[in-house]
Formats: sequence, structure tokens, C-alpha cells
Amino acid sequence: MDLLIEGGTIVTVGGRARVDVGVEAGKIVQMGGIMHADKVIDAIDRFITPGGVDPHVHLTSPTLDPNGPNWSDDFESGTRAAIAGGITTVGNMSFAGRDESLLEGIERDNAEANEHSIADYFLHPVMLYPSKENLAAIEPLHAQGHTSLKFFLSFNSFDRHVPEFLQAMQIVKRAGGIAMIHCEDAAIIDCCCSLLREAGNTDARFFPESRPVQAESVSTYRAVGYSETTGCPVYIVHLASARALAACHDGRSRGVDVYVETRPLYLHLTRQRFEEEDGAKYAGAPPLREQSDVDAMWAALSFGNIDSLATDHAPWKLAEKLDTEFDATNLRQGVADLETSLPMLYSSGVLGGRITLEQFVAVTSTNAAKLFGLYPQKGTIQVGSDADMVVWDETETRIIDGATMQSRSDYSPYDGFKVTGWPIYTISRGEVVLDGKGILAAPGRGQLVRRGPHRAI
Ligand SMILES: [Zn+2]
Repeated sequence: MDLLIEGGTIVTVGGRARVDVGVEAGKIVQMGGIMHADKVIDAIDRFITPGGVDPHVHLTSPTLDPNGPNWSDDFESGTRAAIAGGITTVGNMSFAGRDESLLEGIERDNAEANEHSIADYFLHPVMLYPSKENLAAIEPLHAQGHTSLKFFLSFNSFDRHVPEFLQAMQIVKRAGGIAMIHCEDAAIIDCCCSLLREAGNTDARFFPESRPVQAESVSTYRAVGYSETTGCPVYIVHLASARALAACHDGRSRGVDVYVETRPLYLHLTRQRFEEEDGAKYAGAPPLREQSDVDAMWAALSFGNIDSLATDHAPWKLAEKLDTEFDATNLRQGVADLETSLPMLYSSGVLGGRITLEQFVAVTSTNAAKLFGLYPQKGTIQVGSDADMVVWDETETRIIDGATMQSRSDYSPYDGFKVTGWPIYTISRGEVVLDGKGILAAPGRGQLVRRGPHRAI
């Protein structure tokens, strides 16, 4: 046997048990009764969870579109941050360039990730325009293991092409995939931005008013209705408000195949942050909401009404976020979160007594693995699965300081937060990629995970 993890308590969504885990050729091959291995990790008194599966990141290098977002991390620095934070598989949003087909976009991102990624990865084709060619590409992409399709209700192009997007959803449904939808209403956002400009309220602190809750809730109701109409499973990305949650709950109670993702921003921060002098650094879409929304997110996590916690990792340098060329109507969106997401959920959620460790596993790994067709290769600890595991030190406390972390973003929206519970070992396909001393793995070791069909949770 290559590796033995000895004496730890294994946690899956089904419960926990103290059992030794044996690994050979990157797979879990035995649980319990293991006598010998080349390498032994002492995990006595430690919890071991499945490696995190973060289905929503932006790590593509920005070379393609000079006008597109110029995020700070590529697959190397981004997956270094992931590994440091206990995430062993990332799902990247793959945008095709102006003159590329969806397939060419995926191939380009795959080549880049294959060369630079440290963690395993999968790719979500993003459809900005539902042209005939793009619609025709959905089934072949699914057949190649890219069993999801992302689109945005927050772009005006959506409202000009609703019938074609509904057609796309029917194709995704037939192909066994899942649609990922950004739910904010483009027309409401445009209207709010015009009103802010007319009133001269374009300072960054007005950002939350440029994309108010009704933009999110109206759009979420539409997505639920589209799922109900087409039968296509829908995954709402980065849900932020109690009202949008109610829209999903309404659909789910009628059996509509709707799943909910939130991100750490909406668990740990409120819109009060925009009153700070450098409030622009917190900008993401949707914006930070009220304390009552934060409370609703935590309640939904504990009652199983949120299925997945994803980072939407889209990092910038602080100076770029604070660039005064941008105002409340067009701030640069996104933050770095791959290194902080799981430890902060562990700290505030598990150690804070709001969710169980089993629920932590569900929302950081197992549910996403099932929804996106990676399960049981990823998302659990059982014989036959990839040996992706995190050994936790739940006594380690750190003060967040983005300037010293793995992402090339030079700040964290949580700078100064005290966080207890960090990975002491991260193991990816049987390889120890993080130990107490740092990251051990080389760029390019990460592999594309070819996915099966979506499965319900
Ligand atoms: Zn995103």
C-alpha cells in the first residue's frame, strides 16, 4: 500500500467513524485492518473530510479578451490557494472568446489547466449567445464529460434570446446535465444604474443599490419557472438573499429540480461594509445584503436548503478594486476566497455550532460532486473513490491576512478575521499536496475530471 492514514475519524454525509484508510495508485483501496504502507500519516484525534469540491471558480488567464476581466489568479496560483484551503477539485467557468466556438473555449482552458493546475478540475461551458452553433455544441460537450451549461440572466443578451435559452435548457435536460444560472435581472440593474447616475449617487457605497434584492428575486423566480417548464435541473449560483431563497424553496416544495449555491461573502459580511472608505473591495454580484439575509443563509445551510458553498473565486489586487475610474454602477466584481472558504465555514459553522461536520461535508464536497457528475469518484471517502482527503487541525487559529496567502490577490475581504480550524494535510489522488510546512505539489499534476450525468441529491 502507498499510503496509510492512521487513527483519524472519517466524516462523510452519512456519519463518522474512526477507521484507517489505505491508498494505492491514487485510489482508496481499503478501510480498516491495514498492516503496512510505504508512508503513514498520523491522524490520531483528527477529523478527515473528503477533499473540497468547489464548483465555481474563475482561473482562466485573461489573455484572450483584452476588455474582459483581468483576474489575478491563473490555474497555478488559484489551485495553490485551493489546496491550502482544503479544496482538491475546482469547477472553472470557461468562456469562449469572441471568435471561438464553445468547444474551442473548453479545449483552450483545458490545455492551460492541464499545464498549470495543481488540483483536479472540471470545466463548465459558459453560453453568452445561444447561436445555432452554440446550441448544437451542447450535446457533444456533454458527451465529452462537460455535463453542465452556465448562463447569465444579468446580461441584456439573455432577455433578447429567452426562447433560445429555453431551447438550450431542453437540450441540457435531454443530455443529462444541469444548467447553472446567474440570477439578477438585467433590466432592473440598468434602470437602477440610470437612477443612481441621475441622482449623482455613483460613489462606491451606493453599489448595493445598483443591484437590489428585487433584481435577484425576480430573476430567481424566472429560473425556477424555466426549470419547471423545461424539466432541466437548475443550479442557482451565488444566491444572496432571503427573498431569492424563498423563490427556490417555493419551487423545491413543488418538486422542481432546483439547487442552491451560496458563497462565503454572504455568510460573513453585510452591506454595512460599503460604508467603509475602501468599501469597493467587497464588490461582487449580487452585492452584500442585510444581516437578516446573512441569518437566512445560515438557517438554510443548517436545514439543508442550501446545497453547496462555492467561492466564485475571482480575485483582484486591492488597487484594482479601488480604481476610481469605476463607480457604483460598474465596480470590478469578485474576490479571492479559495484558501479561506472551508476554514471559515469550519470555524463559524462547525465550531460555532451552526452546522454539523456531516453538513459541512455535504455543502463543501458531496453535494457538488453529485450535482455535477463527479460522484463517487470525488466527494466522498469510500473504497474505489479517488484518495482526496483533508486532515483538519481544529485547534489551529490564524488571523486572515490576504497579503501573505496563496492567491495573487494582495488582500482578503476578511483581513483581520480570526479563524480556527485549518487543513494540516491535503491529499489529492493519494499524493500529499499540503503538509504542515506548505504546498508540496508541482503545477501540472492536476487532471481534468470527465464527468458523468447530473444526479439529484
Ligand atoms: Zn462566477
